[in-house]
This record gives sequence, structure tokens and C-alpha cells, in this order.
Amino acid sequence: MLTKTDLKLVLTEKLSKYSTFQIGGPADFFYKLEDPADLNPLLQFAKKKKIPYFILGGGSNILFDDKGFRGLIIKIDNKNIELEFGPKDSVTITADAGVSIATLLDFSIKNNLSGLEKWVGLPGTVGGAVRGNAGCNGLETGEILTEATLVNPKTGKVNQVENKYFNFKYRHSKLKTTKEIVLSASFKLKKRKISTEEQKKIMSEIRQFRITKQPFGASTGSFFLNPSPQKPAGLFIEQAGLKGKTIGKAQISPKHGNFLVNLGGATAQDILKLARFARQAIKHKFGLTLKEEVQILSAKGLRKL
Ligand SMILES: Cc1cc2nc3c(=O)[nH]c(=O)nc-3n(C[C@H](O)[C@H](O)[C@H](O)COP(=O)(O)OP(=O)(O)OC[C@H]3O[C@@H](n4cnc5c(N)ncnc54)[C@H](O)[C@@H]3O)c2cc1C
Repeated sequence: MLTKTDLKLVLTEKLSKYSTFQIGGPADFFYKLEDPADLNPLLQFAKKKKIPYFILGGGSNILFDDKGFRGLIIKIDNKNIELEFGPKDSVTITADAGVSIATLLDFSIKNNLSGLEKWVGLPGTVGGAVRGNAGCNGLETGEILTEATLVNPKTGKVNQVENKYFNFKYRHSKLKTTKEIVLSASFKLKKRKISTEEQKKIMSEIRQFRITKQPFGASTGSFFLNPSPQKPAGLFIEQAGLKGKTIGKAQISPKHGNFLVNLGGATAQDILKLARFARQAIKHKFGLTLKEEVQILSAKGLRKL
């Protein structure tokens, strides 16, 4: 008999539409996970079929393979958000992992809260942000996260954990090694003290900053991790004279050295060749090995650059 999980499995789903790079061939199996209760049956399905699985959020930090993925993509798509008022003007938002950062920010503003303004324009979902400790403009996920609900993919057990569990560092959390899956996360914010106009002004300045400094094209934001906050990867790339370097339809943005852009029709191979070229040039010129921030998913599973 077919189960609910079987019925919602999509076969040969093209991955390019789920990545901000707009690159990627078909996945053999694809599932939009709206109900976390479906997660364990899905993990069992992959185990039984002896195929790899991959957890996908907003696809803003992932490069899919031109050949797609010979396994199961589980797109986290649960979308609930709740608000809880605490003592001394503190407010906690608990958002499902599939909620986009843009929706989280909108929700906080509509509820007269402040604390998330710096994330205006930050792509991706709550789950992706927690795993990679995403952040910008001086605010990282780990600074406002209070607790989260995780699933251990090996045992299927659900755990509620507090901030210190994650060992948050620059673009790092413990989840990168444990491979636990985020179901939801809670963030501590404050009731807004400034006027709506002031809040809008702050966000408009931040948005303007992004527009000036970052390209519009299809990318995953910063491709490489910054070797240190004072020495961003983009600066090394710029100093090596690589801005504008193009391979196939992939280009190092003339606007921002750490943005690799799909000019339209780029393949994953174009992006990988360009990234390796940049990494090699930086090694040669500065003796420094850049590490990729972006996750690279080959047809068989995650791989390094
Ligand atoms: C234009 C642009 C600008 C950007 N600017 C910034 C920036 O300023 N700061 C910044 O930090 N990042 C930035 N990024 C990168 C990206 O937005 C972040 O890395 C984001 O947090 C990725 O979230 P996602 O949901 O898209 O994750 P995905 O790309 O879908 O996945 C990334 C990784 O997270 C894992 N993952 C996703 N959801 C879950 C989950 N529920 N549980 C466990 N693991 C999960 C995936 O398995 C994968 O390993 C930018 C990207 C773009 C395209």
C-alpha cells in the first residue's frame, strides 16, 4: 500500500529552480517537507533504497551538479511562526526551519519588534541560517538564537537544545559535524523602541549598501570563507586582479571579488573551474588557501572544491 510519503515524492525534479545559482540537473527523488512527521519515513526510505539524502533550505548556499543528484532531496518547507512575550520587553519568535529570513523579518516588523533589521536582504531559511551561523552587518544567528528543535538523522530522535549546544563561530555551528536537521528555532528580540519610520530608514540604508556593493546576478553570495574579518576573501581576489574573470558563463563579479555569478546558462563545471582558478591564483600570489563557504553537491553527495 502506498503511504502518504510515497504519494508526495516527486521523481526527477530539476534542481536549478531550487538554487540561487540557477544551476543543477535532476534529482532522482524530491520531497517538500511541510510536516516534520514525514521526516523519519523519508530517511528510512533513503536507507532502504541505499541512496544518499540531502537537506535543502532556500538553496542560497549550494551548488548543485549539472548531472543532478542520484538520491533524495528533502526540501524543508514547514512555515509556522509564533510569538511569545516575556519579561522586560523581551519577545521570542519561534520559526519553523523552512521560514525564509525575509518572512521572519517581515513578521518581526509587523509585530512591532526590533533586532532583525540588519538582516534585510539576507537570503535563505531559518534552518540554513542556524546550520551556517549566517549573519551580516554585525549580527550573526548565534547572537539571537535561544533554542532550537533538532532531529538526529541516525536515530530519528527529536531534541530541544539551547544556544550553547551549537558552538557557534564564524559561519560555523556544531550541526556541520553532527548533521542534525533543524525543525525550528527561537530568537530573542525586543519590543520596538524607535518609530516605524526610523526602523524603515535603517533597513533602507542597509538595503542600499547591498545594492551598491553586491551584484544582482544569480549567485550564492560569498563563495569563499573570509580568512579573517580584517582580510575578506574578496579583497585577496580583487588584489589578484581577478574581478571580471570569466570562464564559460561564470564570472567573478566586477562589483565584488567573492561573488561568483552565473551570467546565464553557466554550468556547475564553469563555476567550479572558476573557483579553482581563483583559489590557485590566491595560493600562488599570497600563499593562502581559500576554503569554500558554499556547499558543493555532486551527483553522489557532498564534495570539496
Ligand atoms: C545574494 C546573496 C547574498 C548573501 N549574503 C549573505 C550574508 O550576508 N551573510 C551570510 O551569512 N550568508 C549570505 N549568503 C549565503 C546564504 O544566504 C546563507 O548561507 C544562508 O544561511 C543559507 O540558507 P539556505 O536556507 O538557503 O540554505 P541552503 O543553501 O539550502 O543549504 C545550505 C546548507 O544548510 C543545510 N541546511 C539547510 N536547511 C537545513 C535544516 N533545516 N537543517 C539542517 N541543515 C540545513 C543544507 O543541508 C546545506 O548544507 C548570501 C547568499 C546570496 C545568494
